[in-house]
Amino acid sequence: MLTKNTLIIFTTLFLSVLLWTSCDDSTDNLPEVINQNCTLDNPSATINPTEINLLKHMREEEKLARDVYTKLYELYGLNVFHNISRSEQRHMDDILCLLEFYGIEDPASESQGIFENTTLQNLYDTLIIQGNISLTEALKVGATIEDVDIYDLMEFSEDTTNPAIISIFDGLTCSSRNHMRSFISQLTTNGLTYTPQFIDETLFNEIINSNKEQCGAN
Ligand code: MN
Ligand code: MN
Repeated sequence: MLTKNTLIIFTTLFLSVLLWTSCDDSTDNLPEVINQNCTLDNPSATINPTEINLLKHMREEEKLARDVYTKLYELYGLNVFHNISRSEQRHMDDILCLLEFYGIEDPASESQGIFENTTLQNLYDTLIIQGNISLTEALKVGATIEDVDIYDLMEFSEDTTNPAIISIFDGLTCSSRNHMRSFISQLTTNGLTYTPQFIDETLFNEIINSNKEQCGAN
């Protein structure tokens, strides 16, 4: 005799199998999740052409950092290049989050060392030539990238009032100050100094004479 309880058990079993089967089928067409932890802090509803340009610029500038450090790690095997290249990948992801939110076309090529922005392409080519000379030149390349990065992020932050962009740029600048501290510390160990080419001397000294910061997940 079929009691009410067994009926419930059978129905539950049947539904579970049905659910399990349909879930299994659906995995075939899942889109690739690029940016799983993508969250934006109070993004403005609209975006203007200036902001579009600076986001595209920063997406490729973070790629420049990642690609150069990847190359320098291959050349010298120094951990600082490996660790910082991974941080630059997260910075690229942060900018991608903004690009996707506003439906902006991603300028970043999947190929290493290839850039749409010609200024960044020229900078990449120059830095790779310098980095090839020696390990100490490679460390100066690192300091130069962070110098440019801090400068651009601070400048671009002045060109927008969008809280989500400002928040991400603040996090990236914080991280860049840490990267700068790492490269300068390595240069100092090798008895070398670096003269800032983009940010002013006062800010540079403030950064290298202060402690490492906590910059969120990056
Ligand atoms: Mn960065
Ligand atoms: Mn950096």
